[in-house]
Amino acid sequence: MTVDEIKSLLASQGEEAQALLNKGLQTKLQTLDNCVHLRGLIEYSSCCAKNCLYCGLRCTNASAIRYTMSDQEVFDCAQLAMQLHYGSIAIQSGERSDRAFVDKITFLVREIKRQTDGKLGITLSCGEQTEETYRKWFDAGAHRYLLRIEASNPDLYYKIHPKDHDFDKRVACIESLIKIGYQTGTGCMIGLPFQTLDDLASDLLFFQEKQVAMVGMGPFIPHPDTPLWQYRNAIPSVAERVQLTLKMIALLRIIMPEINMVAATAVQTLDPQGREKAVKAGANVIMPNLSPENYRKEYLIYPDKPSVSDNAINDQQELEKSLQAINHRILYDAWGDSVAFTKQHLKS
Ligand code: SF4
Repeated sequence: MTVDEIKSLLASQGEEAQALLNKGLQTKLQTLDNCVHLRGLIEYSSCCAKNCLYCGLRCTNASAIRYTMSDQEVFDCAQLAMQLHYGSIAIQSGERSDRAFVDKITFLVREIKRQTDGKLGITLSCGEQTEETYRKWFDAGAHRYLLRIEASNPDLYYKIHPKDHDFDKRVACIESLIKIGYQTGTGCMIGLPFQTLDDLASDLLFFQEKQVAMVGMGPFIPHPDTPLWQYRNAIPSVAERVQLTLKMIALLRIIMPEINMVAATAVQTLDPQGREKAVKAGANVIMPNLSPENYRKEYLIYPDKPSVSDNAINDQQELEKSLQAINHRILYDAWGDSVAFTKQHLKS
């Protein structure tokens, strides 16, 4: 698909837009199935050395409450994922690259693998690291890594990041992850200030060019304690950002039919039915939050995260029901690897 074709579909409205979403769903059902894979989300630490202009965890935000989970709390979350038959967890954290942090993640990954007899799949999302660190974590047992490019147009990237961030380094990190053998995921924010339809079309083509195995895309949600808050009235409306996100999901499913794609929590933040709508547009991964209740409200990259009960079993039953209502089902006790990745590796 060309940039112009993508732009035209992103601009579509009414029946044309609905036809696009239907095609995203159809493509998924024909290429994959109606299964949704779960990744139990563990928000390990809200401490971050970076200062991204959109993020509530940025290091200069004095209002953010900083925490780091204890080892035992992390292990308890992993055990909960096992009990709930999720098959896979995702450990997400603010970015640190000091030795103590790198060693701690290595230890946690190795220990979770040991405690679960290697049964639990582990995705990491801990930002930019050296290739050596990525290798260390891979060797410890992590097999997927999510590092969002956020904006594939360098000009836009530098408008939403401080000057000391390096777009080329970000891309190099994604390439290192792929080279090491991770199922590599990336993604972008949708509805950013200064963002054009050209930028969004380029994001989709960037994912395709890099041949990533997974993508997580979500609407931009301004955080009051960040510099981008000043542009909150200069971005698309909530409804427009949700709709654009759904169209991006459907388009990417059509362009890259076999990848894993997340129905991001940010869509659910803006629309209570957002997660289900994302699944109906082509997403096939959901990341239920398993972090202890007392930490969830402190891990605020963006505000107003949906309040979740502290009863994971009830949440799971609710999720099952809402997915059944749209003719989908959860695939339990499976890593839910990306078909695109598996096929690429069979070839090589
Ligand atoms: S987006 Fe990630 S790296 Fe940037 S400030 Fe937030 S937590 Fe840190």
